[in-house]
Amino acid sequence: MRASRFFISTLKEAPSDAEVVSHQLMMRAGMIKRLGSGIYTYMPIGLKIIRKVEAIVREEMNQSGGIELLMPLIQPAELWQETGRWDKMGAELLRIKDRHGREFAFQPTAEEVITDVVRSEIKSYRQLPLNFYHIQTKFRDERRPRFGLMRGREFTMKDAYSFDRDLAGMQASYKIMYDAYTRIFNRFGLKFRAVAADNGAIGGSGSHEFHVIASTGEDALVYCPTSDYAANMEAAEALPVNATRPAAAQPLSKVETPNATKCELVAEQLKLPLAQTVKTLALTVETETDGKLAKQYFMLLLRGDHELNEVKVGKVPGLAAHRFSTEAEILEVYGCVPGYLGPIGTKAPVTVVADRTVANMADFVCGANDAGYHYTGANWGRDCAEPDLVLDLRNVVEGDASPDGQGVLAIERGIEVGHVFQLGTAYSEAMKATFLDENGKPAPLQMGCYGIGVTRILGAAIEQNFDDKGIIWPASLAPFELVLCPMGMDRSEAVKQAAEQLYADAVAAGIDVIIDDRGQRPGQMFADWELIGVPHRVVIGDRGLKEGNLEYQGRRDTEATAVPVAEVVAFIK
Ligand code: ATP
Ligand code: MG
Ligand code: MG
Ligand code: MG
Repeated sequence: MRASRFFISTLKEAPSDAEVVSHQLMMRAGMIKRLGSGIYTYMPIGLKIIRKVEAIVREEMNQSGGIELLMPLIQPAELWQETGRWDKMGAELLRIKDRHGREFAFQPTAEEVITDVVRSEIKSYRQLPLNFYHIQTKFRDERRPRFGLMRGREFTMKDAYSFDRDLAGMQASYKIMYDAYTRIFNRFGLKFRAVAADNGAIGGSGSHEFHVIASTGEDALVYCPTSDYAANMEAAEALPVNATRPAAAQPLSKVETPNATKCELVAEQLKLPLAQTVKTLALTVETETDGKLAKQYFMLLLRGDHELNEVKVGKVPGLAAHRFSTEAEILEVYGCVPGYLGPIGTKAPVTVVADRTVANMADFVCGANDAGYHYTGANWGRDCAEPDLVLDLRNVVEGDASPDGQGVLAIERGIEVGHVFQLGTAYSEAMKATFLDENGKPAPLQMGCYGIGVTRILGAAIEQNFDDKGIIWPASLAPFELVLCPMGMDRSEAVKQAAEQLYADAVAAGIDVIIDDRGQRPGQMFADWELIGVPHRVVIGDRGLKEGNLEYQGRRDTEATAVPVAEVVAFIK
């Protein structure tokens, strides 16, 4: 590839709505362009990386017996009604009508369609097992699309579906996919962990999530460094309360946090007694710094079903007083005031006062229901549409005994990039997808489903691999493996010739190479490729050429190395 004929468009500054580093760097590197909330154009560099992800996924799926097909984006409502998901999926399912008023869903996933395919195609146990997959656009009307490709509304997923005659077969298919995922994430060159997960709304029994490890990840992973135990926080917490952990109970409306240096600390100490199906709770945090009172507003997302009894305490004028009974824990804290970590980070005592419960998180966060959510001082309405911090409050903490008795637990953060499910017969029974077994009797198909967030991988890879200059792609995902930077190609015939020769050699050696023939100044040229994250760079200049050398620098290297011209291609290979 020649840079002059490719499209490169870098930015010095990231747009202000890009909160996490991967989103910032993807925007700066010109990989994606925002069209609407959670909707992006994949620009040429971004698309090139997506295609590399897809190629690895496709290769490993095919090697593992997966058979590729392609299911439609637009799916008739009737199929979704058969499984009950038309209602269950709620607002995340994008629904559309055609000119006749018939309803359709834009696929967020494709269990219904594949089950429909299979119920008409599969007659006998002799046709099993089968594993169909596709790599297809998805749409999920996410409550909070954010972080660029990480939580988009439109995104690309590889989703696979296995069909077996019995439970043992389904478990074998599941294992094959689990192993394929392990190979896929290894090939990406990313640090990852597979953890046991709850099945959630999709139903069925047994599932694992694959997470790319990154401190900025949305999920907390619980694992035991001295054994195989690993689960996501929800699955870990579903276990009986750990005997080594005292059931913490803090006073109701007032929590003192002297010397709190981090928001986590405050959060850890909040154990609010609660009730009713309360999902969110707004809190006022008052801080005193140098004798000055400052108020910060938070909302809390609570776990579990709790019953709200009575209402007490309200420091903000005009608020109903709330009181809560029975214990509940705070799962997440959303800070709505930019920079709110500041006051909490002071040594001043923090007083937390429970203010108000909100029945519906979506209304609250999106400000869809304006009435009542505007508080003078802090505006809880539309200004809060994008809370800028989410904190996990954990039930399971570091140092707890591992449930397998093989050591103590550690916690790290991850980004969910893959998910494998044992579905069993949930879908096949609902949709009457049966086959004839050895005795000629109809039996429901045993299913599994397996997703990989193709576009999310890009964000996750960057969250794990970047520095102050930009992205550092693992070789297998890099948009280009090698960039050639000729110094003054237009002035020096020697440089031009050497660069063109090296370019031809690299292409012949099967290296994904780009030659930067845009005529940029060296500083600009280097900055672009460091930002874009190409793993290998070779500079071709008159000075080096006089000694028969080129300058090689790996993206993680601090200095360039002189490499003889004739050895460069072998050096990179
Ligand atoms: P999350 O917990 O992040 O919302 P999920 O559990 O809803 O993800 P699955 O239904 O398991 O997602 O889908 C399979 C994979 O698709 C996920 O593991 C993730 O990698 C990817 N994915 C899901 N939602 C999104 C999204 N909004 N944007 C990008 N990728 C996504
Ligand atoms: Mg989701
Ligand atoms: Mg999930
Ligand atoms: Mg999932």
